[in-house]
Amino acid sequence: MSPIRPENRARYPKNWRQISLTIRADRAGWRCECAGECGRGTHDGRCPNRQGYPAYGTGSRVVLTVAHLDHAPENCDPDNLRAMCQACHLHYDRDHHAQTARATRDQQLRDAGQMELA
Ligand SMILES: [Zn+2]
Ligand SMILES: [Zn+2]
Repeated sequence: MSPIRPENRARYPKNWRQISLTIRADRAGWRCECAGECGRGTHDGRCPNRQGYPAYGTGSRVVLTVAHLDHAPENCDPDNLRAMCQACHLHYDRDHHAQTARATRDQQLRDAGQMELA
């Protein structure tokens, strides 16, 4: 349901499915809770996307996910969680993923350099 990256799966709590459902159903009422945090700049105020309805702009069916605002899957404090449509969630995570990929690449280069020196 939510785009959990395989390397992060173990960092989610065992009751993540229940937490995620509670956020999306009870708190968000199956509407995207993004109020601009995604930085897409395509919606003013709260995102109008609703679970199962056509997404604005694209018309593809909305699937709500739950985003971690600090990108730490183990931090499931409700304040750290936002129900987000896939577009908002992907956009919100995109910069973070780019930074993570860059950090990994830098580390690999450093490791390679150390191996050459050894
Ligand atoms: Zn949205
Ligand atoms: Zn948004």
